[in-house]
Amino acid sequence: MALSMDCIFCKIIDGTIPSKKVFENERCVAFYDTTPQAPVHVLIVPKEHIESMNCVNEENAGVITEMLLILRRIAADLCIAEQGYRIINNCGDHGGQTVKHLHFHLLGGAALPVMLA
Ligand code: 5GP
Ligand code: ZN
Repeated sequence: MALSMDCIFCKIIDGTIPSKKVFENERCVAFYDTTPQAPVHVLIVPKEHIESMNCVNEENAGVITEMLLILRRIAADLCIAEQGYRIINNCGDHGGQTVKHLHFHLLGGAALPVMLA
């Protein structure tokens, strides 16, 4: 699996940086955000270093479906599914992406403000 040595999320994937994981399989890892913006704030990342949504293509797009299905399961496991949640992807500088490794934010546990990044 291609990892990038100067990427925070690749370091979380290889265990160099510790994280509080909620899910892991061969292709994806989900862990709690260290700066939560909601009572529940989980990030899901592919183990492959895909820089952003701009780098999703016909060959790697399958992992997107898998990430969304995993998020749905995590939302149920963390008891936020029934009341609802938000899934966010920030892409590139204008999108507010600070970590250049594709990820979805799962936010819930309270009614969320209209704008949240
Ligand atoms: P972005 O702004 O790129 O969409 O989201 C990056 C997220 O990664 C931010 O919400 C930030 O709090 C989170 N983050 C940054 N560094 C770390 C870290 O070392 N560990 C964890 N768990 N989250 C991080
Ligand atoms: Zn990476």
